[in-house]
Amino acid sequence: MERPYRLSCHCGEIRFEVDEDLGELVECNCSTCRRSGFLHWKVQADRITLLSEKRQMSTYVWRCISEGHHFCTTCGVAMLRTGYPGGKVSVNARCIDNIDLFELNIERYDGRTDMHPGPLP
Ligand SMILES: [Zn+2]
Repeated sequence: MERPYRLSCHCGEIRFEVDEDLGELVECNCSTCRRSGFLHWKVQADRITLLSEKRQMSTYVWRCISEGHHFCTTCGVAMLRTGYPGGKVSVNARCIDNIDLFELNIERYDGRTDMHPGPLP
């Protein structure tokens, strides 16, 4: 697969492309990621081009207003996570069009241990 990578939710309502090399992919065992199955691919936000303009997404916020889990309101597929430093967002690599998940090299991050579990103190 080559750049730019195209990503879409299941129903196709939300589509965007990422013009970056496929970098480190991380699965996380924190309370939200383990439930959603989000596969993190952190990219610079300015490398993302929205292909479906003026569409609705929903955002689940559980701690800080600057951190969000953004998903399609129609099919529920999570596409983006925000709240990372350095102008980065995390896109869900599971949404890359035509990707074979079993061919990916996926790292693990122990978010369950490393991250504060509840509201920020
Ligand atoms: Zn959708």
